Amino acid sequence: MGKPVILLPRPMLPVVTRQLTERFEVILPFNDIDPDAIVQAAAPRVQGLAVMGTPIDARYIERFPKLEIVANFGVGYDNVAVYDCSARDVVVTHTPDVLSDEVADIAIGLLIMTVRQLGAAERWVRDRNWLQKGSFPLTPGTLRGRTLGIFGLGRIGKAIARRAEAFDLKIRYHGRSPQADVPYPYHADLEDLAAACDTLMIAAPGTAETRHAVSEGVLHALGPHGVVINIGRGSVIDEAALIDALETDRIMGAGLDVFADEPFVPRPLLIRDNVVTLPHVGSASVHTRNAMGQLVVDNLVSWFEKGEAVTPVPETPITRRP
Ligand code: NDP
Repeated sequence: MGKPVILLPRPMLPVVTRQLTERFEVILPFNDIDPDAIVQAAAPRVQGLAVMGTPIDARYIERFPKLEIVANFGVGYDNVAVYDCSARDVVVTHTPDVLSDEVADIAIGLLIMTVRQLGAAERWVRDRNWLQKGSFPLTPGTLRGRTLGIFGLGRIGKAIARRAEAFDLKIRYHGRSPQADVPYPYHADLEDLAAACDTLMIAAPGTAETRHAVSEGVLHALGPHGVVINIGRGSVIDEAALIDALETDRIMGAGLDVFADEPFVPRPLLIRDNVVTLPHVGSASVHTRNAMGQLVVDNLVSWFEKGEAVTPVPETPITRRP
C-alpha cells in the first residue's frame, strides 16, 4: 500500500513540511507554476489536509472524495466548516494548550500597553518629544483597582486569569455555562459582566454565536473607564460600535490583536493613542509556532498510524478511521 497522501494548500513551517515529507506523500502545489492543476490532479487521492488559515468550506472538501482528516494549525478553527466535515466523517484537529501561555502573555502585555499607553509613550521617545517637550503626560488609566471580565474562560482565558491574579485584578467571567472549579463570579449575560467590570478581555472563539457579541450595549455598559482587549477573534466585536464608543469617549481604550477583516485595520483605530493594535501575534513566537506545528504532525501521524487523532475538535469526535 502506498503512503497516505497529504495536501498542504499553502506553505507551512519547516518543522511540519520536513516531518510530513518523511512519512507521507506530500503535495505542495504552491511551489508549482499552476497550483490549481496540481491540486486537481491529486484530489482523488488526497486523504489529509494540513492547513494554516486556509478557508475550508463544504465546496472545498467536496473535491477530495477520500479525505479523512483536516489538521488545522491553530487552536481557533473558524476557517474550517467543521459541521460539513462532521457530516462527511472527516475529523478536524487543532492545536490547543501548547499556545495558551504565549497568548496569555500577549493578552496581559496588550492590557498594560493599553491602560498605560505604552505605544504612545514609546513613540514619544522615538519622536524626540522627551528631549524637546519633556515628560510624557501622566496616563489617566491604571491597572490599580480594575476588575477584569473575561469573556471565554477556557484554556487561554484561565492562563490570563492566573496572570491577572498576580496583578491583584479582581476577576469575573462569562461563558455559556458556569464552571464548577472556578473561584470567580459567573455572569450568564455578557452585558451584565460588562456592567460589573471596567476591563473586558475577549478570549472566546469566532463562531456564529459569538459574532458581534461585544455590541454597542456591552461597550457602553463598561463605562467611561472601560478598556476592551481582544485576543480572541475580530468577529466577536462589532468593530463599528467599538470605533463609535472610542470616538465618543464612551470607553477609555482598546487593545486589539485581532480584527474583523485582517490584515485590514480601519483607519479610526490606527490614528488613536488610546488604541493599541497588534498584527495577530498572540502565538507568534518561533518556540510556540513550532510546538503548534509539531501537534499538526502528531495528529496526522497518529491518525494514519494508530487510527486516532490526538486533539480532535469537539464537533468531530471521530476517533477511529472508517
Ligand atoms: P477554549 O475552547 O478552551 O475556550 C473558549 C472559551 O470560550 C470557553 O471557555 C467557552 O466557554 C467560551 N465560549 C465559546 N463559545 C461561547 C459562546 N457562544 N458564548 C460564550 N462563551 C463562549 O479555547 P482556547 O482558550 O484554547 O482559545 C480561545 C480562542 O482564542 C480561540 O478559539 C481563538 O479564536 C483565539 N486565539 C487567538 C490567538 C491569537 O493569536 N490572538 C491565538 C490562539 C487562539 P463555554 O463553553 O462555557 O461557553
